[in-house]
Amino acid sequence: MKFLITAGPTRENIDPVRYLSNRSSGKMGYALASAAVAAGHEVVLVSGPVHLPPPGGVKLIRVVSARDMYEAVAEHLPGVEVAVFSAAVADYRVAEPAGEKIKKREDELLLRLVKNPDILGSARGTMGYSGVLIGFAAETNDVVEHARKKLESKQCDLIVANDVSRTDIGFDGDDNEVIFVTRGGGMERVPKSPKTEIARRIIREAERLAAS
Ligand code: C5P
Repeated sequence: MKFLITAGPTRENIDPVRYLSNRSSGKMGYALASAAVAAGHEVVLVSGPVHLPPPGGVKLIRVVSARDMYEAVAEHLPGVEVAVFSAAVADYRVAEPAGEKIKKREDELLLRLVKNPDILGSARGTMGYSGVLIGFAAETNDVVEHARKKLESKQCDLIVANDVSRTDIGFDGDDNEVIFVTRGGGMERVPKSPKTEIARRIIREAERLAAS
């Protein structure tokens, strides 16, 4: 099957040398891309800036900002059968990035932020995507309840939810512990495992959803 996977953080410029971003390492998305290739799938990996070697056998599209990622996803989504949005997209960008390096002058500097496009939330509507749609939900409380809301509002088939209030799993680590939340009230806890193993489980679940 044809997969599209988003991975990593996005970077939103403040000026030519500074940016807003987040702690996403891209490990989960890269593990997903490797697992999908290993399972015999064709993979387009749309990746924000990360320090990871590109997985063999994928078509890698490097992007920087959320808007770049949106454009790349919109371009490559047609014909895709499974889309997995694991990127940690910045919710906001700087309204007017400075053309030159901002000089240190006043004691206070105000940056006005504006909302970035919701890539996952645009897949079904604006982008007209009808394949299997998988999103991630990083929550600090009421993890399953929030995941279920996201499943509905973004019209996903699966939300992979994790509790980011825990310091032993998630963001930069090699392990994760997640809950699969699916339509019709389905829920499955995946115990703490390496991201490579979680990735294999997600790819198997995607194959099951595509076949159903
Ligand atoms: O709403 P929230 O950011 O928690 O949703 C997380 C999910 O939405 C992830 O799958 C993430 O990749 C995706 N997302 C996106 N575009 C955004 C924000 C989040 O695709 N602008």
